[in-house]
Amino acid sequence: MAGEPQDDCLFCKIVEGSVPATIVRETETTVAFRDINPQAPTHVLVIPKAHHRDAAALAAEAPALAADVLRETQTVADEEKLDSYRIVFNTGSGAGQTVWHAHAHVLGGRGLAWPPG
Ligand code: AMP
Ligand code: ZN
Repeated sequence: MAGEPQDDCLFCKIVEGSVPATIVRETETTVAFRDINPQAPTHVLVIPKAHHRDAAALAAEAPALAADVLRETQTVADEEKLDSYRIVFNTGSGAGQTVWHAHAHVLGGRGLAWPPG
């Protein structure tokens, strides 16, 4: 069910602490941790603690929580001293989504080309 922890979800396990991660920030509703396979000098994932399958589901099912995630991306960028950065929500396997627990990628610390790959 939306919002409930999923036994087979890697990011739910990071939230509950049974899978380790390099956590950079935590709030009552969100966790931010370093991506294990960084694509930029700063590559942090911001996730809601509650399980929602992707960004669109998160916005529909828990709009205040979606706002918490977005607010945290800015705080992470500030703490990482990023003037410019990119927030990415890969949505759907064709766009590269591999973990089905909503997450914002915060990427920065290098030039970021547009259009993205
Ligand atoms: P996506 O492909 O958009 O679903 O993003 C999933 C991200 O999770 C990828 O960038 C992975 O490198 C990252 N990832 C996978 N496992 C871990 C882990 N144990 N700790 C931190 N990041 C992870
Ligand atoms: Zn989950």
